[in-house]
Formats: sequence, C-alpha cells, structure tokens
Amino acid sequence: MNWLFQANWLADEKPYRRQQVIEGVFKNLITDWGQATNLPLALRQYLELECSLEIDAITSISKDKTSEKALIKYADGLCAETVLMRHKTGRLTVCVSSQIGCPLGCSFCATGKLGLQRNLTAGEILMQVLYWARLVKQEDDRLNNLVFMGMGEPLLNYDEVWSAIRWINSDEGLGIGARHISISTAGIVPGIRRLAAENYQVNLAISLHASNNRLRTKLMPINKRYNIEQVLIAVDNYIVKTGRQVMFEYLLLSGINDSPNHARELAKLLNKSLYIVNLLPYNPTGVYRASKKEEQNEFRRILSEAGIKVTVRNSLGGDIDAACGQLATQTTNSLPIR
Ligand code: SAH
Ligand code: SF4
Repeated sequence: MNWLFQANWLADEKPYRRQQVIEGVFKNLITDWGQATNLPLALRQYLELECSLEIDAITSISKDKTSEKALIKYADGLCAETVLMRHKTGRLTVCVSSQIGCPLGCSFCATGKLGLQRNLTAGEILMQVLYWARLVKQEDDRLNNLVFMGMGEPLLNYDEVWSAIRWINSDEGLGIGARHISISTAGIVPGIRRLAAENYQVNLAISLHASNNRLRTKLMPINKRYNIEQVLIAVDNYIVKTGRQVMFEYLLLSGINDSPNHARELAKLLNKSLYIVNLLPYNPTGVYRASKKEEQNEFRRILSEAGIKVTVRNSLGGDIDAACGQLATQTTNSLPIR
C-alpha cells in the first residue's frame, strides 16, 4: 500500500482529477475507491490496485473511554501504535508514531527497549491519522490536535515526518493547524535546527528529564551525543527563528530526578521566558517508580516560585498501555502478525 499521492497515477487523467482524488482521501475520508463516485470506474479500479485505502488495525479502549489505541499493521506485517485521546473539553488529540521501535534506548521507555526496527513512511504515518479521522467522522467530529509522541524519534525520520505534517496541516489535506501539531524529540540537534529553518508554526517539545548532564546521560544515552547545553543552544535558535514557546518534558522518577535539589537545578537551567516545563507522571515500564503526589507537588512548587511556567500532564490511557512510553509494552508490539 502506498498512501502518499503519486502524481504518476494520474498521468493520463485530466488535471482536476488530482483534486478529486485528494478530496476523496482527506475530506470525504473514503475507505475504498468505490466510494469516490465522481471518478470514472476504470480510474477507481486502477487506484484500488495501486493504493488500497484499507487500514488494518486492532484496537483497544481504556476503561474510562478517554483513550483508544490502535495497532496499525503495515504491508510487511510490522505494526505501529497510535492513540486517540478524548479530552474533557471535547477536544480530540491523536498521538502518532514516527518509527517502529526507536534507536535511542532511553532507560524509562518501552519503545526504546525494542531498538529501531524501521522508519515509517509519510504514507504510513498518515494511515494512523486517517484511521482516527475516519472513526471520529462517524461521530460527526474531527481531530483537533496531533502529537508525535508515539513510538520513535521523529527528528531521526525527518523527511517522512515532515512530508506527513504537510498533508496533515494543508488545506487540501486534513487541515489541522500547525499550532495544533507538536513534535517531541529527545534532543536531536540537527533536526531542531532544520525545524527552525522551516519557519512553520508547529510546536516543539524537548524530552529533557534531567537537570544535569550526568543524570541525563544515565537516563537518555543520546545525551552523550547532544548534551543539555547543545540542545538548549538549538532550542534558543528555534525560538529566535519562530518566536514560539518551547516545552520541556520532565518525567518524575521517584528517587532519581525528583528531589528539591533537582527542581532548583532545573529552575536555574530553564529560566527563560519562552520556556515552559511539563511534568510527566511516569507510566510504569518495569524499571522505575513514579514520584509520589507530594514530591510532584513540591517539585512543581519550587519551579513555579522560581518563576518557571510549569504544567502537569494528566496521563490518559494507562490501563491499555497507551500512555506515553508504554506503547509497545505488549507482545503484539511491532512483531509481525501473520
Ligand atoms: N522520541 C520522542 C517522542 C516519543 S516519546 C521523545 O522522546 O520525545 C513521547 C514522550 O513520552 C517523551 O517525552 C518521552 O520521554 C515520554 N516517555 C517515555 N517513556 C515514558 C514513560 N514510561 N512514562 C511517561 N512518559 C514517557
Ligand atoms: Fe525513543 Fe523517545 Fe522512547 Fe527515548 S523516549 S527511547 S527517544 S521513543
């Protein structure tokens, strides 16, 4: 299945067919070409062969129904996970994967344990989004936000991720505003630089998780390659170029990075007006323990008092392993299902 629109499919067709094909896929969210009744039968049959619109998925839903996970199976039998989160406000956020597995091996992350199996193509990333777009269309709803916080490191698959973003964002595609699209990265400096040069309004989030290099290297081996200072220089360049606020994600791990001293060290490090800290509760992956509520509150208080903007993420989807970093914790994860 090759999902991305290929100009050569329509080489012998009238120019307006391109628009009709794109409209069918992204606006009418058709699930097979037979539904594109504005196209000639022969073209529908041809497209059905070239690019089936079927999406093969196994889904599960959390007990409180706030999140749904889909394991999307690709042509080679490998799978990636994507999550739909339903917020109390009624807004719908989709979390997508950019790779199958991840090469960066962060010690707290389930995906990291898999290693990298392969990159996803832009079309395969779009399949995750279209899967949910079709589902919520049946409820007369549409997707509001999209985050690259599923499996994989998006900035290590830059071209495909970017090409998917263009379709997700563009008016002829899904039309989700750039300000509603977020990329989370473990701090791939060349990727952050490229993103800054796009001059695009997508949100950038940095997985920091530590207040000094020694600790960060223990938790995130990529810190040996791009340390905190190098990441912050790239972030500042991004802010200069885009004028956007940047979010730093900080996972609270009991007894590891959640002491008042860590909070003070972090406050010093991140004391800039366009920085914002998002504290994440740890979703168990078998290695660490989550910080207790009191430690979390104290950590937050120290940051706030130091003048840092800080929010706490409420984690959806814990009971279906759909929470951040838990993707791929089941045996179905990214193993070929045949
Ligand atoms: N590779 C990118 C994007 C995917 S991970 C990145 O690391 O930023 C999305 C977010 O989930 C990251 O902030 C990541 O650090 C966080 N995460 C990983 N494991 C987690 C866990 N066990 N509990 C909570 N968050 C986790
Ligand atoms: Fe990869 Fe992100 Fe998980 Fe680290 S946290 S292993 S970068 S997916």
